[in-house]
Amino acid sequence: MEKLANPQKTIEIIQKNNFHFQKRYGQNFLIDPHVLEKIVTASQITPDDFVLEVGPGIGTLTQYLAEAAREVVAVEIDRDLIPILEETLGEYENVTVLNQDILKVDVAALAQEKNGGRPIKVIGNLPYYITTPIVMGLLESRVPLESITVMVQKEVGLRMQASPGTKDYGALSLAVQYYAEPYLAANVPPNCFIPRPGVGSAVIRLACRETPAVTVKDEKLLFSIIHASFGQRRKTLVNGLRNAPGLDFTKEQIEEALRRTGLSETVRGETLTLAQFAYLADELGKMADK
Ligand code: SAM
Repeated sequence: MEKLANPQKTIEIIQKNNFHFQKRYGQNFLIDPHVLEKIVTASQITPDDFVLEVGPGIGTLTQYLAEAAREVVAVEIDRDLIPILEETLGEYENVTVLNQDILKVDVAALAQEKNGGRPIKVIGNLPYYITTPIVMGLLESRVPLESITVMVQKEVGLRMQASPGTKDYGALSLAVQYYAEPYLAANVPPNCFIPRPGVGSAVIRLACRETPAVTVKDEKLLFSIIHASFGQRRKTLVNGLRNAPGLDFTKEQIEEALRRTGLSETVRGETLTLAQFAYLADELGKMADK
């Protein structure tokens, strides 16, 4: 099958099918073969792999995945794209298209059915309006995942892989890095898509950990503390945690927990590593138990 990844072929398919782009579905289709090759290389697909693709569009990336993997399931919400995908992917016997919302798909059942419960690879040029629910939903679900390799808005990619003390570091960095090791594989400019998005893009690979990066007694408390620390960025950690809804610690308790973690009372949340947040959460947890 002729590749769709060029502007002429993409426009031809769109016009022939009288397809109208839906902004609300974050539809920006890739038209640059180099970028598609980068995604395939970054995702480290082997002929043995089962791949779940998020949002195939007209099937541009799906063609590459079908040629590299054993089997692909592609989940597309827009029913107007389904007849187009039947045509563009008709020759690939190892591809199944599901007309569903990715946020409602039972990925664990899919991994069980298609991959015997072994870790799967998730790949996609994501609809940017739901990047965080898709990525965090997958990571938190504890579905067996080997990696997630996705196109995201560039600033979101930078936040996912940011280190403590940098301007991009925040709750998303810590949440992603708790479950996975991020690697920014490529920057992608707007002219690689039709229509051009208003923002820069990046391909990020998240290599999923078998167990979280740190061990903590109360995961929920850890993430409440992380969210509270970044909710009020300019405040010290003591003030951020004291004023946070849902957390019920006194100034003295927080200061004592910070001392036990080996941190100053004037420290700001944005300088703490994940391991320090975990230690702090355990210390505060002990105080709550008393
Ligand atoms: N993979 C194609 C490409 O690279 O050319 C299209 C990528 S486009 C950025 C995102 C795709 O995700 C669109 O086809 C859009 O319709 C689809 N999409 C949006 N929301 C979705 C959802 N909740 N579940 C599944 N697919 C969705």
